[in-house]
Amino acid sequence: MAKKIQAVRGMHDILPDETPLWQFLEDTVRRVFQSYAYREIRMPILEMTELFKRSIGEITDIVEKEMYSFVDHNGDSLTLRPEGTAGCVRACMENGLLHNQIQRLWYQGPMFRHERPQKGRYRQFQQIGLEAYGMSGPDIDLEVILVTARLWRELGIPGLELQINTLGMPDERKAYRARLVGYFQAHQDQLDEDSRRRLNSNPLRILDSKNPEMMELVSAAPSLMDDLGEESRAHFSAITEGLDAAGIDYVINTCLVRGLDYYSRTVFEWVTDLLGAQGTVCAGGRYDGLVQQLGGRPTPAVGFAMGVDRLVAVLETLGQAQVSTVPHAYLVLAGEKARQAGLVLAEGLRSEVPGLRLQCNCGGGSFKSQFKRADRSGAAVALILGDDELENQQVGVKWLRQDREQASVNHNELAEFLKEMTGE
Ligand code: ATP
Ligand code: MG
Repeated sequence: MAKKIQAVRGMHDILPDETPLWQFLEDTVRRVFQSYAYREIRMPILEMTELFKRSIGEITDIVEKEMYSFVDHNGDSLTLRPEGTAGCVRACMENGLLHNQIQRLWYQGPMFRHERPQKGRYRQFQQIGLEAYGMSGPDIDLEVILVTARLWRELGIPGLELQINTLGMPDERKAYRARLVGYFQAHQDQLDEDSRRRLNSNPLRILDSKNPEMMELVSAAPSLMDDLGEESRAHFSAITEGLDAAGIDYVINTCLVRGLDYYSRTVFEWVTDLLGAQGTVCAGGRYDGLVQQLGGRPTPAVGFAMGVDRLVAVLETLGQAQVSTVPHAYLVLAGEKARQAGLVLAEGLRSEVPGLRLQCNCGGGSFKSQFKRADRSGAAVALILGDDELENQQVGVKWLRQDREQASVNHNELAEFLKEMTGE
């Protein structure tokens, strides 16, 4: 026998038993985003490699070692997108959506990173992202955070912690950077290999270290708050005041820097303790420099990305009520004539009964085997159409999960009967 082909490591199937939870999340996201007038944008999954090098930054985990890049038949270096913001900015620039305009956008889709697979960390994973362009004030930062807070409420996810921080503007960061390098240099012996490498290239990223042995050193590091100018300070406090006014709890985490280089001022994350080490379910912030960095005019921008796989895992642990895909009724069809007439009858019922989930028996089979399938489908009732019933314009109704007597219903009363059952 030929060797079985398996899925690529770190890339998992989402099976039919799991998709209802995904759909519940996706439907809720769409509804919540729409209620703030954000519009969906869809970008290609492949982009020029250069796009990510120029946006995410060369000295980041993603660009250094996590990208799926290859040279295509034209000799172009292409990359499976590791995140959505760069592609979204590229698409907006290319289609003239940014100049003198305000945009509220969102997207969803698979992202690819060659990381070590573990619970909540995959090589193909799903993100839903939201981006707002053309607004520089703290009000839009606040709105973006409010969107996420509402989303958790609508999804029924309690207990997420909002962490926020400010990274200031580039010149403020420069002063801070010097102080930070001084601090870490004074503690060279406590730096791990990654951090030592970053000390000169990208010292702020040391604050993002996931190494538990670095925690103490990192948490005692100098804070950027002290290097902030008047405007950055005001921007940040307008957000925290807004959160206070909206009744949203948060923690200021001065070590929060994010794994991408393009952020300025506001950064935030939503963290859960339900998933173990992979606790960040949503991360974002302001990235005013990115559009210009990619060759556009200076354009203020703020946004976030959610890890959908992780959010679904949270919903799973909460045993959340979800959209059911179980059929309401299973149509048992006995006899040649009934087989065809049944499918036509079912068509009429689906048109007449909103939301009806009706499964028809296809592929024949004895009564016994059809009832077995009906039972396995999870349906509440089996509707039985044989040659006799067909002649009398009736169907038999057999309750599969309740102790109720079998009955007959006329074809012209069947829609009413099913409407009652589906609660419409
Ligand atoms: P982490 O610190 O967990 O590596 P990150 O800083 O690399 O996250 P972002 O690039 O900000 O993550 O992506 C936003 C969100 O996407 C994350 O908060 C997380 O929920 C999710 N995410 C990122 N990488 C993965 C992955 N490999 N598998 C599953 N979800 C992921
Ligand atoms: Mg990462």
